Amino acid sequence: KKSRNPMKRVKQEIYSYASSKQREIDELKKLEAFRREFLADVSHELKTPIFAAQGFIYTLLDGAVEDETVRVKFLKRAGKSLDGLANLVQNLLSISRMESGDIQLEFEDFDIYKLTQEIYEQFEAKAEKKQIKLIFSEEIPDKVVVFADRQRIMQVLMNLISNAMKYTESPSEVEVDFKVGEKEVTIYVKDTGLGIPPEDLKRIFERFYRVEKSRSKDKGGTGLGLAIVRHILQAHGNTVSVVSTVGKGSTFSFKLPKGEVKQALEIE
Ligand code: ADP
Repeated sequence: KKSRNPMKRVKQEIYSYASSKQREIDELKKLEAFRREFLADVSHELKTPIFAAQGFIYTLLDGAVEDETVRVKFLKRAGKSLDGLANLVQNLLSISRMESGDIQLEFEDFDIYKLTQEIYEQFEAKAEKKQIKLIFSEEIPDKVVVFADRQRIMQVLMNLISNAMKYTESPSEVEVDFKVGEKEVTIYVKDTGLGIPPEDLKRIFERFYRVEKSRSKDKGGTGLGLAIVRHILQAHGNTVSVVSTVGKGSTFSFKLPKGEVKQALEIE
């Protein structure tokens, strides 16, 4: 409310100017803290695979290279570390682009059931090795068409399905289910794995956050997968939810708008 008293009004205006400046300063401070934290996190994550690869290579140069079996073993391990590094840098690029709001979606109608089948095929060999069954729940319609960015949703499903396969004890199951509503489709990725303790649930979507207990099992994880999932769904105007019980398993779910089923032209 503006005062009628001119002195009071000047005071009010100065006060409101000052508090808006203060808000700007607070915002900048937050950004600066965020930037510093991000840099610290990134440097820490980069150090691990680099030091590992360095260790293997210099040990080889120090003489281990003479031993045929050690040579192959160490080169393989150095290679694995560098694979992890490449993966991490790729994910970091995606995340930094998304966090700066630079994410352009290409919407199209596509069959997400078919997309999931394709992803399952890619994971088949790994699943078999770990004795994990990749299944669909019963009663899925032939086509589940959604309107979204196919490439990005593929990334979401791959991250969720690979986590479901990673944080589990064999034998286990990964199940994808679709609930088709009036305007939306809900997608569920369910596992019978380790589960996530309640105190960690809220934080698993933060970049670099890992649940301590499963960390030792973590092979090649970057701690960025779920942050990327969250960003992609956020860009679609949606969120991702999780329900989990330690020792029983987890279910991640998200919604996408229903797409139009294109009728194939039938020519007699
Ligand atoms: P990471 O690269 O470590 O897998 P994510 O961002 O994908 O990173 O996941 C963050 C953490 O959340 C993981 O380290 C793991 O502890 C936990 N997590 C993710 N998915 C599952 C799951 N399906 N079951 C149990 N824990 C999970």
